[in-house]
Amino acid sequence: MKKLLVLGIMALALAGCAAQPQAKVPAIDLTSLDTTVAPGADFYQYATGGWQKIHPLKPEYSRYGSFDMLGDTNQVRINNLFQSMLTMKAEKGSVDQKISDLYRMALDSTTRNSLGGKPMQQYISEIQAISSKAELAKELGALDDYGEGGFMNVYVNQDMADSKNQILFLGQSGLGMRNRDYYVDPANKELKAGYRNFLAKVFALAGIEDAEKAADNALAVEDKIAKVSWSSVQERDMLAQNNPMSTAELEKAYPAIGFKEYFAARNIADQNKLNVDEPSYFKGLNDIFAKTDVKMLKDYLLGQYIQSNCGSLSDEYYTAYWDFFNRQMAGAKQEQPRWRRAMQVPNSLLGQAVGKMYVDRYFPESSKQKMVALVENLRKAFNEHIDSLDWMSDSTKQRAHEKLAAFTVKIGYPDKWKDYSTLEIDTAKTYFENLRNASKWYVADNMSKLGKPTDKSEWGMTPQTVNAYYNPSTNEICFPAAILQPPFFNPDADEAVNYGGIGVVICHEMTHGFDDEGRLYDKDGNMTDWWTAADAAKFKEKAEKLATQFDSVEVLPGMHADGHHTLGENIADHGGLSISFSAMENAIKDKRPGLIDGFTPEQRFYLGYAEVWAQNITDKEIARRTKMDEHSVGKNRVDVSVRNFKSFFDAFGIKEGDSMWRPVSERVSIW
Ligand SMILES: [Zn+2]
Repeated sequence: MKKLLVLGIMALALAGCAAQPQAKVPAIDLTSLDTTVAPGADFYQYATGGWQKIHPLKPEYSRYGSFDMLGDTNQVRINNLFQSMLTMKAEKGSVDQKISDLYRMALDSTTRNSLGGKPMQQYISEIQAISSKAELAKELGALDDYGEGGFMNVYVNQDMADSKNQILFLGQSGLGMRNRDYYVDPANKELKAGYRNFLAKVFALAGIEDAEKAADNALAVEDKIAKVSWSSVQERDMLAQNNPMSTAELEKAYPAIGFKEYFAARNIADQNKLNVDEPSYFKGLNDIFAKTDVKMLKDYLLGQYIQSNCGSLSDEYYTAYWDFFNRQMAGAKQEQPRWRRAMQVPNSLLGQAVGKMYVDRYFPESSKQKMVALVENLRKAFNEHIDSLDWMSDSTKQRAHEKLAAFTVKIGYPDKWKDYSTLEIDTAKTYFENLRNASKWYVADNMSKLGKPTDKSEWGMTPQTVNAYYNPSTNEICFPAAILQPPFFNPDADEAVNYGGIGVVICHEMTHGFDDEGRLYDKDGNMTDWWTAADAAKFKEKAEKLATQFDSVEVLPGMHADGHHTLGENIADHGGLSISFSAMENAIKDKRPGLIDGFTPEQRFYLGYAEVWAQNITDKEIARRTKMDEHSVGKNRVDVSVRNFKSFFDAFGIKEGDSMWRPVSERVSIW
């Protein structure tokens, strides 16, 4: 599936920004260091060991880092906003009414518990009533209108070849455990058994007859789906995912899936051009539809349906869900408090309305201005780097400059806010029904773009999200308000620390435009090969060397990092460090500061970078992220990445013989 290339976190992230007067945050918190270790022996430990000791992993987290800490603080701020709205008399239909009612319902576990699984019974009966493959395709269409189907993901996005237009995409989907490895790799036998038991448990809760057998059926279908699904590494191949065809061709290529019934149920007209992301997956899915018994396919759909609704039913459902996905898969020991779960609901469903309140309260306009200036300094440094590359020809350099110049930069919050006037939140209905309707609203919102020109002013993240992204189809970089605060951006810090933090983040996103995926798109966001063959070959050789560096790292005993799965993110970190360091040197050239806290600017740049990735993490979460997350774990984002730069070794006087040393011949230099 086409996606945004984000900075660092997979999970829903919520965050904040510091506009209100508050205590100054130190640029480098010296207590974060572990000075008992030499930087040349173990840089990550030296730079973040103190932080890890001061912030032991809380039982409700499987990973907790400075990134997550910022997210936590922000959740408290947003929750306080919601709390203050509980007593207000909001006008029916206003965003205040929608946010406060939704928040109140999300907090009300008493009502949810009294209803148990009842709110979804009617929809379960609809799935159970399916008696043929044609009816199944029709029901799948009906479920997908609410974002609750299975087997595939049907959505509208920018046409890869012509980004001004938006077309329909069909992508693989429908695995509860998301990654095919969990199903096909025997090493995950135990987790797979846990997943099967989770299904049996929620089936029993929902009153499904012979829940054990139904769970076996559902898992058997997921096994079949997993076998034909593309791996995470295959999913990075954007060229292979560019497969335009018409609705007629789609129906002809995959006749057993029942696309005619499916599209009729969804009221989607025949398309001259749509895109099939993974053709071999749909070929496999066609076989599954052709050869699998209807009862088994129904049990699979029930499994997908019930698990996607565990959060809006009674606590029994949520706890079953949490026990498998958070405890068994990720290693968390305790559920999040109710308010944290509750505040995330209005925060995501009415995201931009909350974002507007958030920005008014927490985002200073001065931060936006500072960021605009910083982005231009970094863009200048990136241009200088492109000019100095010894491996790229002049013609490719020219196109790279053009692409960089064409970047749209989004900072803080959107110019145009999303209109939620047709999204109803009605307290006369159950929480379950309200979430169901909201989900339908979002699906309809996405589908309404079909055939319409791309709106380049739209944002892919809310302002209160602690993250950033690059979108190759619109050639835009976006930095929401929430990431523009410490440890990323600190208005009180010296330049070196900010270039090591937000400077690297900005260049990370810029580099995504030139990573193994982003480089396939031109300045207008169209998939075009603008590289000479020789330049592309040299790029691939360098990228391969970087992949090998990460492949060689053992993340857990016997488990290695996946250098190809994480390649785009690692290239982005590489470019981020390389270019932001130069920009920092440009910035301090004529006004070089003396030592601060005993450190040079170069040392502070790398310490500022490491501080962003300080974290504690469970072994299970390392294993899970190694499969699921395109980002390397914090320690590798620091230790593997920084050792490609002479400036790092020079800054800390690291020499041959030190553990951190990497010989010149083994270093990678791309950007
Ligand atoms: Zn990224």
